[in-house]
Amino acid sequence: MKKIFILTSFLILTSIDAQVSKPKLVIGIIVDQMRDEYLYRFYNDFGPNGFKRMMTQGFTYHNMHFNYMPTFTAPGHASVYTGTTPAFHGIMGNEYYNKFLGKEMYCVDDENVRALGIPKKEEDGKMSPKNLKSTTITDELKLATNFKGKVIGMSIKDRGAILPAGHFADWAFWLSDNGNFISSSFYGKELPLWVDAFNVEKRYMTDINKGWNLLRSPEIYNESLPDRNPYEGKINGNLEPIFPYDLKTEYDKNGAKIIKVTPFGNSLLANFAKESIYHEKLGQDDITDFLAVSFSSTDYVGHIMGPRSMELQDTYLRLDETLADFLNYLDQKVGKNEYVVFLTADHACAENAQFLHDHKYDVHYLNYKDLEKDFIKFSEDTFKKNYVVEYSNQNLFLDKNTIVKDGLDLEKVSIQFKNYIETKDYAKRAYLEKEILNPNTTDKYLLDISRGYDPKINGQIVILHQPAFMEYYGTGTTHGTPYGYDTHVPALFYGKNIPKGESFNVEYITEIAPTLSQILRIPFPNSTEAKTLTEIVKKK
Ligand code: ZN
Ligand code: ZN
Ligand code: ZN
Repeated sequence: MKKIFILTSFLILTSIDAQVSKPKLVIGIIVDQMRDEYLYRFYNDFGPNGFKRMMTQGFTYHNMHFNYMPTFTAPGHASVYTGTTPAFHGIMGNEYYNKFLGKEMYCVDDENVRALGIPKKEEDGKMSPKNLKSTTITDELKLATNFKGKVIGMSIKDRGAILPAGHFADWAFWLSDNGNFISSSFYGKELPLWVDAFNVEKRYMTDINKGWNLLRSPEIYNESLPDRNPYEGKINGNLEPIFPYDLKTEYDKNGAKIIKVTPFGNSLLANFAKESIYHEKLGQDDITDFLAVSFSSTDYVGHIMGPRSMELQDTYLRLDETLADFLNYLDQKVGKNEYVVFLTADHACAENAQFLHDHKYDVHYLNYKDLEKDFIKFSEDTFKKNYVVEYSNQNLFLDKNTIVKDGLDLEKVSIQFKNYIETKDYAKRAYLEKEILNPNTTDKYLLDISRGYDPKINGQIVILHQPAFMEYYGTGTTHGTPYGYDTHVPALFYGKNIPKGESFNVEYITEIAPTLSQILRIPFPNSTEAKTLTEIVKKK
C-alpha cells in the first residue's frame, strides 16, 4: 500500500514538474537585417542589460545560418517560425513573380480581408498569412493549448508581424505609414481598444520633435566610417545622411512614415509590445503565451546607410537600450524566471560593393533592370525574339508557351541562356530548373537554391552571383544571396531553463522552431525536419 502511494505521488510529482517547467511566455525577437558580427563589433559600446544580458546569462549560438536562397525578410521570418525553408512553407520572397499565376505577388497580400484601423489606405491592411503553406511554432502552440495560449505578432512591417504569428494568431499588428498600428479583418472585427488608445497617443512625437542625434559621444563610433561618406543614401530620398537629423520638418512634409527609417521605429514597437503584454495579460497564467516581435528599423537604416555607417551603429546602440528596458519590463510583469526569449534575424547583409571596390576588391553593384535588358537583348540577338518574361530575385522567367509554339525546345533555349549568363563577370553559376530539382549533394549553393525553389512559382533559371556582387544601388546595402554575409545571424536564447553557454558549431535557422517545440513539449511545425539545438533542450 505504502509502495503504491509512493509510486503514485512520484508520478504526480513528475507530471506536475513537466507542467510547471514550461515558461509562461515565449518572446521571439527578430532584428531585421542583423549581422552576427554586430554583437562583437559594438560589444564594448553596449550596456550590461540588453544584448549582453542575453549573451552572458543565456546561450549563444555563434555560427547560426540561413540555409537557402533568397535571404529576404518574408522567407526569413517564415523559416524561423516554421522550421523549414521556402520550398515547403511557400513564401518565396517579399514581392515575387509567380509563374503559375503569371503575375507579381506580395507575400502577405489577401484581397478577401479588409484593413482595421485605417479607413483611407485600405491596401496597407489587406493582409493575412494565407500564402503560408506550413504551420508555425505559434500555430502548434495554439493547437496544443486548445487555443487557450495567446499568440500575438507585431512589427513595423506587415510581413514581420503576420508570418511569425501563423494561421491561428489572436492578432498581428503592423505600423501604417500614418504612424498607427493596424491589422486586418483576418484577426478580428475591430482593433482592440488599447490599440486605438495607443495610436491616439502618438508617442513618437517626442522623438520627432527632438530629432535624431548621436546617442553617445562621437568618439564611441570609431567602429564605423565617418558620418559623411560616399556609401550612404538619403533618408526618404531627401535627408542628407549627416547628424543631427531634423525629423520635425520631414514629418511636417511627408508624415509619420519617417519614424520607420529611424531607430525610433524600434522603440515605438517595444512600447507597443509592453502595452500588449499588459492589456492582453500575456504570461499571467500557466498556459504558455507567445509574443513575436520583429524590429524593422534596423533593416530600413541598413538599406539606406549600409553596415559601416554611424547611423547603423547608433541604431544598434539604441536598440540595446530598448532591449534592456524590455527585458526589465518582462522581469516585472511576467517574472524573472518565467519567460523564454530568443533573438535572431531574418537575414544579414552584404558590404556595400562600391566600398569594397574602393578598397581594391574588384567587385561592383548590379542593377537588376540592366540585367533584364541584357537578357532581352541576348534573346533578340540569338532567337530574333524576346523570350524573357521577367527577371527578379535572381530568377529568370522564360516564355515557355511561345518558345514551344515557335517549335523550339525549352531546355535547349534555357541552356543557351545559362551559357551566356555564365560568361558574365558577376555570375558564379546559372542553374536550370532540372539541376535545382535534382541537386547533386556536393554543391552547397545549389542545395541552398533548391531549398528556396518551387517549380510552380520560380523561374526556369536561377542565378548565383559571384560573392560580394550585389543587386542594388550604389549606396547602402542589401541581402538575398546564400553567402555567409547574408546568412550568418545572431541566435541568443535566454530565460527559464535555458542554460548559460555557447556553441561554435554550424547550425541552421530551421532548428529554432523545433527546439521551441521541445522546450514547450508541443508538436513540431508540420514540415520541419525537426533537427534541434540540443544544448538548450537537454535536461540539466
Ligand atoms: Zn529583412
Ligand atoms: Zn552619415
Ligand atoms: Zn532588407
